[in-house]
Amino acid sequence: MKDDVLNGLFRPQSVAVVGASTQPGKIGYTVLHNLIASQYQGKIIPINPGADEIMGLKTYASICDVPDVVDAAVIVVPAKYVPQVTRECGEKGVKGLMVITSGFSEVGRRDLEKEVVDIARQYGMRVLGPNIVGVLSNSDNLNASFAPFLPFPGKASLVSQSGALLIAIDAATYTRRVGFDKLISIGNMSDVDFADSIRWLDDDENTSCISLYIEGFKDGRAFIEAGQNARKPIIALKAGVSAHGAAAAASHTGSLAGAAKIYSAAFQQAGVIQATDLDNLFDRTLALSLQPPMTGDNMLIITNGGGVGVLATDAAERFGLPLRFAPDDVQAELRKHMPEFGSAKNPVDLTGMAGTDWYSKSVQFSYAHPWVDGLVVLYCETAMTDPMEIAKSIYQALQDSGVKDKPVTISFVGGEKSAAAMVWLVEHGVPAYGAPDLAVSSMAALREYARSRKFLQETLTPCDGYDADSARAVIAKVREDGRSVLTEIEAKQVFSAFRLPITTTRLASSEEEAIRMANEIGYPVVMKIVSPEIIHKSDAGGVKVNIKDDAAAREAYRTILANAKAYKADANIHGVAIQEMAPWGTEVILGSVNDPTFGPTVMFGLGGIFVEVLKDVTFRVTPVTNGQALHMLGEIRGAPVLAGTRGEPPRDRQALASVLCDYSNMILSLQDEISESDANPVLVYAEGKGVKVVDARIILKKKG
Ligand code: ADP
Ligand code: MG
Repeated sequence: MKDDVLNGLFRPQSVAVVGASTQPGKIGYTVLHNLIASQYQGKIIPINPGADEIMGLKTYASICDVPDVVDAAVIVVPAKYVPQVTRECGEKGVKGLMVITSGFSEVGRRDLEKEVVDIARQYGMRVLGPNIVGVLSNSDNLNASFAPFLPFPGKASLVSQSGALLIAIDAATYTRRVGFDKLISIGNMSDVDFADSIRWLDDDENTSCISLYIEGFKDGRAFIEAGQNARKPIIALKAGVSAHGAAAAASHTGSLAGAAKIYSAAFQQAGVIQATDLDNLFDRTLALSLQPPMTGDNMLIITNGGGVGVLATDAAERFGLPLRFAPDDVQAELRKHMPEFGSAKNPVDLTGMAGTDWYSKSVQFSYAHPWVDGLVVLYCETAMTDPMEIAKSIYQALQDSGVKDKPVTISFVGGEKSAAAMVWLVEHGVPAYGAPDLAVSSMAALREYARSRKFLQETLTPCDGYDADSARAVIAKVREDGRSVLTEIEAKQVFSAFRLPITTTRLASSEEEAIRMANEIGYPVVMKIVSPEIIHKSDAGGVKVNIKDDAAAREAYRTILANAKAYKADANIHGVAIQEMAPWGTEVILGSVNDPTFGPTVMFGLGGIFVEVLKDVTFRVTPVTNGQALHMLGEIRGAPVLAGTRGEPPRDRQALASVLCDYSNMILSLQDEISESDANPVLVYAEGKGVKVVDARIILKKKG
């Protein structure tokens, strides 16, 4: 494997415990005890200046005294000694530090934490933590932590930002019967972060899927990149979904951006599957660690009970995998293995009369049939059948089919016998759940994983053909003027440099000029106040639409200026904008924010009450691919409005998606300048008729 230093940290050949203790109850005692109890095969070296021997192991006063090579050092000494110990570890040639000690950035001691990382970097060491539980690994019999035991063995690996939760999950792996190889606590992430862990676990031969418990990132983009490059499934549970940074936002988008929505977008873009809660993290981890992705939409359900079949059908719809009827040939074959009153459509109901024979024949046939992309097998405990026998017959049928690249999930509903049968199935690599909807939602996760991989193969809209220089020139002039808010006219100049389809707009400084420009553009026109101090123009009575002739234009010119004066007497007025009146279209809004975690991020939603009241919006971290943009259009609750409703033809979603891509490229390439922006509204016309940006707003970053 490539990263020798991280190998030393996560798969050490020798581990020193700096601060090992002879006193039970101390962490330095527990960690040493756990290393021994887990039967770790590498060298265990206690470090403690006050002892020659602890738990039968030769103990050294300082790590520098150790004659052997030390790969990893678990550090449990008080925080103030950690910098010194770090230096000694560096001198000794240690590769990685697991700093269990707390009392660093989590209590405001960023300085101390930085000092430790700076020292470690000088020596080329990596730091896990501080403020961690440690590292646990079944394949290496390594419990370098103060969690009491290694997790229930399996092929998933977990990276957790919360130490307490990691210990709880460790214990729960036994009751949940979800197996893990490694549990990695990353605490304050002073150095090793989620991205590092993902990259390393992706190369780890003992890990088949990566589960994450996340509270927040320092570098959101590094995470996205690590996710995109991973070849193994990643499942994330994100805690803390309250809005952040919204209060101070000046634009609409700012106040709509919540951490939860942006994180969800980032997970999608990273190809990471999201879990909704801890149970869901376990359920999805089980499926993704044991089964291949589901590469098509055809899920077939086999059941012996109508009730669980209906529950599964409902769940299929809910989780985005609605059932389709099986083709005739499949139905014809399946009918051979059920009574007259069974059903071969989908769900395939073998009825309560089904025993091992019908189960195994229908499972083997369906699993091997090319129409079936994923198989869900349900079983309700009956008086006539033995759950373990059913489980074994299903498993044998799956084996006999010879199929290996297709997912299967199972649910047994019943009592202890069913529970025991499911344990047996899981031990044989088949995910089994106590409720039918869980078997379906886990299959949906396998489908989601395959879909997300497809998204990642998309290429980006090339960032060329834009006139970024002229956009920057406009911004430079605004800055010279001592402003951070662009007028609509200026914002539209920037927009049009990135090929965004704006309405023709000119600036009139006198009534006569206004009339001349209106005639040049052609009636009807729209007239608007142009002032950097009037951000919401309509609120100030500063917008007049559908102006049809010279007389109306004169009238509008005067009214707009008078209204602006009344609104803000000393406002700096640049003039009045005269612009082409765009025909009616469906109003949507595009926006951008600079997310503290993910940087430049774009938003899309429908205009009007959809955005104002329902906050029906969706986000993507820039840059956005065309496929992602199209996906955004379908993601909002109001999506049917764009698809065409009540006799309206479908809207030009292709054109809108391509505008979203250009907009995202603009936000990304001007990220050093633009703090927030929006295009509100953008009018979307019928298919083939394109879109028009009628209002534009840009707020610049404050510069020192
Ligand atoms: P603001 O958002 O600052 O109040 P807008 O420029 O968005 O001002 O104008 C307000 C409304 O007027 C828009 O939501 C849109 O419905 C309409 N409007 C503005 N400009 C045009 C235009 N060029 N063509 C058609 N309608 C327009
Ligand atoms: Mg507007």
